[in-house]
Amino acid sequence: MTRPAADAASLRYHIETWGCQMNVHDSEKLASALERQGYARAAGIDDADVVLLNTCAIREKAEEKVFSELGRLRGWKGAAAGRVLGVCGCVAKQAGATIFARAPHVDLVVGPRATGSISSAVVRAREAPTALRFLDLEQRSDSIRFPFDEIRREGLGAGKAFVTILEGCNHRCTYCVVPRTRGPEIARPMAEVLAEIRSLAAAGVVEIELLGQTVNAYRDAEGHTLADLLLRAAEIAAVERIRFTTSHPAQMTERLMDAMRDAGPKVCPYLHLPAQSGSSAVLRAMRRGYDRERYLAKIDGLRRRIPGMRFGTDLIVGFPTESDADFGQTLDLLDTVQFDLVYSFAYSERPGTRAVELGDRIDPTTKFERLARLQEHQLSIQERRNRDWVGRTVEVLVEGPSKRGDLRWTGRTAESRIVHFAGPAVPGRFLTLRVTDSTALSLRGEPVSSCA
Ligand code: SF4
Repeated sequence: MTRPAADAASLRYHIETWGCQMNVHDSEKLASALERQGYARAAGIDDADVVLLNTCAIREKAEEKVFSELGRLRGWKGAAAGRVLGVCGCVAKQAGATIFARAPHVDLVVGPRATGSISSAVVRAREAPTALRFLDLEQRSDSIRFPFDEIRREGLGAGKAFVTILEGCNHRCTYCVVPRTRGPEIARPMAEVLAEIRSLAAAGVVEIELLGQTVNAYRDAEGHTLADLLLRAAEIAAVERIRFTTSHPAQMTERLMDAMRDAGPKVCPYLHLPAQSGSSAVLRAMRRGYDRERYLAKIDGLRRRIPGMRFGTDLIVGFPTESDADFGQTLDLLDTVQFDLVYSFAYSERPGTRAVELGDRIDPTTKFERLARLQEHQLSIQERRNRDWVGRTVEVLVEGPSKRGDLRWTGRTAESRIVHFAGPAVPGRFLTLRVTDSTALSLRGEPVSSCA
């Protein structure tokens, strides 16, 4: 028997999110689906009747981390009758029914392209708490057609919102699990994306971040590309900033670069463009679809069109075929491009990927020495680049009090520089700051205008 609505209204959920912006946004959708059923957000796990782990398979030992968390949740699950525990996201897709075998207290396993089934799954788990093992790993082609006006948006903070435009990935990088977990690319119709942006703008959102695993591969059924979308989104008056992530270098076309320029300053002059390596030989072994020269040509093309354009990147160190000379090329890429931010990782095998056939050949000492050298080198570059901001006036979108709890506030410039300042200020509003100090990771500033 279905529990009455009044009952559901007193029930609470808690979602733990790992991984990228796509997952953060998926958690917003999962939360909305549960709230549509009458669930309220819990203060924490102990207070929750439903706990969902929205998992990521990109990081090392991802599955082990999920099983370790599920182990911790065994006590929570057994402490009261009717509690529901679910695993969603990429590890759900990767591990599938083996989750039930290794963690029998789990009720639901729902893949990242099947999140639409979460509400009915939770209702069924409540109805038949001992009988149910709900498994849905389908890769539905309509998985991104979520009723956007019902999404509970919190992932980016006041004034900002994520908008998914593309799901899945058609590339086959040899080290990556995403094409298997998220499936092939599926694009939302541009008209629907624009309707969502207009509705967000009407609700006070000023910064939009368009999302896709390879966001610049976007092409809807009518042939509209990201270039078309940027030009149209920039026409929406109340939208002040547009970002998009994550871009693939091979799909950074001349037309898209032109559109980024022609759409005007609303398109933020900062792009995260994962290089993964500075060596053409390693890029070939990774099957990235570009070489060092082509990557650098994209950076140059954007800098020529948009003065002051800045870049961030992802780099993998210790890929099985990476020689000392290859690693030297990656270090050299840092000097050549002068990135503002680098996410760097030591390579480790992901089950089911082609690179596993190469073996994990680089010994851990060499791998972690290379990683430390790369990170130290990049920090010195960032320190120097951030110092150039001191004395300049910048406009930030206020994010809120600093997460460190040290009474500082945080804002972000269009170039994605984080600026700390003494608050208070109004989250979601723009504020002009004079930069007074810098570190490798952030800037410090003081207000030169009121944000009232
Ligand atoms: S482009 Fe490559 S690294 Fe990125 S999600 Fe697709 S397969 Fe993975």
